[in-house]
Amino acid sequence: MRVGGGFVAELDRQQHEVAVPGDWTYASAPESRDIVHIRDRYGYFVDGEWLEPAETYETIAPRDEEALAAVGQGTPADVGRAVAAARNAYADGWSSLPGSERAKYLFRIARLLQERSREFAVLESLNGGKPIKESRDVDLPLAAAHFFYYAGWADKLEYAFPNRRPRPVGVAGQIIPWNFPLLMLAWKLAPALACGNTVVLKPAETTPLTALLFCDILRQAELPPGVVNIVTGDGRTGAALVESEDVDKIAFTGSTEVGKAIQRQLAGTGKKLTLELGGKAANIVFDDAALDQAVEGIVNGIYFNQGHVCCAGSRLFVQESIYEPLVAKLERRLATLRVGDPLDKNTDVGAINSAAQLDRIRELVASGVEEGAEIYQPPCVLPEKGYWFVPTVFTNVAQSYRIAQEEIFGPVLSVLTFRTPEEALEKANNTPYGLSAGVWTEKGSRILWMAQRLRAGVVWANTFNRFDPSSPFGGYKESGFGREGGLHGLEPYLRFDE
Ligand code: ADP
Repeated sequence: MRVGGGFVAELDRQQHEVAVPGDWTYASAPESRDIVHIRDRYGYFVDGEWLEPAETYETIAPRDEEALAAVGQGTPADVGRAVAAARNAYADGWSSLPGSERAKYLFRIARLLQERSREFAVLESLNGGKPIKESRDVDLPLAAAHFFYYAGWADKLEYAFPNRRPRPVGVAGQIIPWNFPLLMLAWKLAPALACGNTVVLKPAETTPLTALLFCDILRQAELPPGVVNIVTGDGRTGAALVESEDVDKIAFTGSTEVGKAIQRQLAGTGKKLTLELGGKAANIVFDDAALDQAVEGIVNGIYFNQGHVCCAGSRLFVQESIYEPLVAKLERRLATLRVGDPLDKNTDVGAINSAAQLDRIRELVASGVEEGAEIYQPPCVLPEKGYWFVPTVFTNVAQSYRIAQEEIFGPVLSVLTFRTPEEALEKANNTPYGLSAGVWTEKGSRILWMAQRLRAGVVWANTFNRFDPSSPFGGYKESGFGREGGLHGLEPYLRFDE
């Protein structure tokens, strides 16, 4: 371990310090990082080979700002080479390979991800800051599940779309964010490959390492060179991919602002586009809900992955009659969350992904206090190095406040109230976004009534943040368009003879 035991010991000491006398505390349980070998320098994975980058930047560990590796800042020329390799691979056999053969590669990739899941989980937590128990139990199993799922579709496209003659689109340019780096890679690659496309993928600038390690899996799986190419870099590299003339489709997950710019850029070009953008999800708790269960769902909804989740339940709507007991339970539960080293198996809330993101969260939280909301943060001593933010609840929030309108993308919850289902619905839909929502009630008919009227791509009932490869995911309004996952997730990667 390059990070000395002192860091972990310090965290442990701090956790003991904040413990209430008589309470029991967790001993630290750090996961070893010896399983991962990080190279000093990475190039671009193009045509099955590593291309040397002309310019690099350091990618760091948000838990302590340790420099992990030098990574390429892809230029338009690098992107051009990757797109040319993808085009050749497309024409040179991949697009005409029988679906059953493509499926074999996808199955292999899924199995290899499972075999190497611990290595990937450790690297994901190290480079991105998320708790190891999340990368181990959520990101990795779901990433493998996506490859398994789409492997199953590869030879059944004619049955999925009967009488429509599905054919691949061509070269797909895919741009992904930093909150679920490997999982977003799997969401994007698996359906694209299953449908017979080739790909150029650009990981987010702060979290390139699992995508670069994934190139090892592509080689192990003996995927033909050029079918998947990975070019790292910041937004400029992404923009070069969008501008590339020989790309037939762009799939983008990221901020609404960049998504809008991409849509403007592609208008009239005939290129296919899917956008999965921001969110400000409503999590609605009715007075007949099982409160303890709802509290767990609220916590999972907003503090999972430090709130770096586009579908996070960041606006909590509580029916007035249960407002006080629910908020009391929630604040008690918050005090038990363990914030700290992402590589500690007991950690619930890890590090904020970057200094820039931490600044954004701080700015919005300050605006909430200024506008008059009441802030609650449990006692919590944060490590000195790295990027951290204490799980936060705002009460007394008016709908007009920025913390109720804007996506914070951090561990910050805004609590609002309602009296009737109609009022809950109106307030929940009062947002430019529409990615997800949650409804907590014992009444099945109310769940259905709400789900039909909530303008959100996903509505969870008596649960939150549940994902499955067979279930489509995507937004309404400024949360984007197009679906990923399930049968719907195949369509953006296919052309039809209609
Ligand atoms: P965030 O603000 O959450 O970092 P972004 O939308 O900026 O979200 O980033 C999501 C992804 O989009 C990243 O991979 C980033 O490098 C890329 N990106 C940023 N700007 C552009 C752009 N103008 N064109 C294409 N991709 C971009």
